[in-house]
Amino acid sequence: MLEKMEILDVEKLIGDFEVMTKDAENVQRETLKMILEENGCAEYLQNMGLNGRTDPESFKACVPLVTHKDLEPYIQRVADGAFSPILTGKPITTISLSSGTTQGKPKFVPFNDELMETTLQIYHTSFAFRNREFPIENGKALQFIYSSKHSKTKGGLFAGTATTNVFRNSQFKKAMTAMQSECCSPDEVIVGPDFHQSLYCHLLCGLIFHEEIQLVSSTFAYSIVLAFRTFEQVWEELCDDIREGVLTSRITFPPVRSAMAKLLKPNPELADMIEKKCSGLNNWYGLIPELFPNVKYIYGIMTGCMEPYLKKLRHYAADVPLISADYGSSEGWIGANINPSLPPESTTYAVLPNIGYFEFIPLKENVEEPKPVGLTEVKVGEEYEVIITSFAGLYRYRLGDVVKVMGFHNSTPELKFVCRRNLMLTINIDKNTEKDLQLAVEEAAKLIAEEKREVIDFSSNVDVSADPGHYVIFWEISGEVSDEVLKECCNCLDRSFVDAGYVSSRKVNAIGPLELRVVWKGTFHKILDHYLGLGAVVSQFKTPRCVGSTNNKVLQILCDNVAKNYFSTAF
Ligand code: AMP
Repeated sequence: MLEKMEILDVEKLIGDFEVMTKDAENVQRETLKMILEENGCAEYLQNMGLNGRTDPESFKACVPLVTHKDLEPYIQRVADGAFSPILTGKPITTISLSSGTTQGKPKFVPFNDELMETTLQIYHTSFAFRNREFPIENGKALQFIYSSKHSKTKGGLFAGTATTNVFRNSQFKKAMTAMQSECCSPDEVIVGPDFHQSLYCHLLCGLIFHEEIQLVSSTFAYSIVLAFRTFEQVWEELCDDIREGVLTSRITFPPVRSAMAKLLKPNPELADMIEKKCSGLNNWYGLIPELFPNVKYIYGIMTGCMEPYLKKLRHYAADVPLISADYGSSEGWIGANINPSLPPESTTYAVLPNIGYFEFIPLKENVEEPKPVGLTEVKVGEEYEVIITSFAGLYRYRLGDVVKVMGFHNSTPELKFVCRRNLMLTINIDKNTEKDLQLAVEEAAKLIAEEKREVIDFSSNVDVSADPGHYVIFWEISGEVSDEVLKECCNCLDRSFVDAGYVSSRKVNAIGPLELRVVWKGTFHKILDHYLGLGAVVSQFKTPRCVGSTNNKVLQILCDNVAKNYFSTAF
């Protein structure tokens, strides 16, 4: 009876969402009013001269657009334990660390109960739509989730990555139970101090509960691919553990060992079965449904910079549906995936009009003084940069993401994630985004796919140390590929950047021949480890796709690990 009561009422959730999105403009007005009323006494807003006004027009006239850099001194004072209200009316008790993969180092952003509530609202909304099309039964979820170390700021505030702040919140577990998506691994594994050990234990728990697993998930799809690539390496060891009922000595952290000991019992039949299944697979195709016969779908953010992992994920998933999770950031949530049956490549996110106040800078205009438009004023087919005003102390904050409006659900827009705005390969008049890079890599990777090889991961940089400057693309490949083919890949990459500025510059050699640098296997793992060392967490990790000068440590890792390089002769 109790279990029944805890399960979410999905029809009610959908009904509420429909009502709210039919009235998005008013809901936005009300949301802004609430944010400004709750936080009007904060120093930041006091200095804006709003004098109690809460309407969008006054807000836009008084409050400037800002970037993280502008707010940094305020956030730092909050982190240092300022007594007076700085950004929010109620004191901020927790700081989130963003993944920092764009700028090279994690950023501090405020986190509070309201942000946790909006997180749950987003989770519930997309679950309601998802469960209508892909109902899951009572069971468990194999979730590759990891929380980072929690530290304290100078002022005594908790500091952890945004996902850590969510995973450690007591509401998170309740929400997962209500969504029948309880993690199969014990908490000790999620909060374990070493991600390699936690990953191994997640896999082991998944195998122990293999028949109960209803879904496989992680925050970003990268972690799922990483998990099954690791499975390919450690599956025999996992089987040994299951056969003997004894955990490998590689797992050293005592709380993780004792939590796992409670689950692990000698089970030679299961070990035999897994061994048989693994041996019968062709290049691990369909591994996920083979191991987890009742899995209904695979879930995690799969758009944007996660798209390059989809090919591998589909290989592991065979015909199990891939469903992209929602769109948000450490700064706040934006939209939910309410069309779960669409493949990740076509996924859009419907903005929830009550989780923040949203504005959009039209990118078509490309003017010095951007004129943002409101949530319901955006136009289908146009691209915008997202601006957030949140319940956690960010006002007219430029998130730096580019989205395209694909349509409307009632009166709220459905956004497609396009790219990060500042991630760009550019030397002179050329402009290539991470999406352009991704498409070029996809095209060139087809040439090595013919040899049953794949690009495990990739990155890029513009090398302007000599004149003319040129693009450098770094590839980690799954095995040996002949020089001949790689040379062809290099030419193909060069030809695949179709931006007019690039092509014309290449033709007159104002941009030099593109260089493909193949790095040793494991190089991208070193990059991951580098970020983990800075306090990032695998759950939020995104491989930096364009490595700029602010990120010289990553560039150094890439450059130190080059096995071979090729210059294009395409022009
Ligand atoms: P962080 O706060 O460091 O974890 O990163 C947040 C950023 O991740 C966002 O600003 C986006 O660039 C990216 N992101 C988050 N959700 C999605 C999504 N559903 N699709 C594509 N990119 C996303």
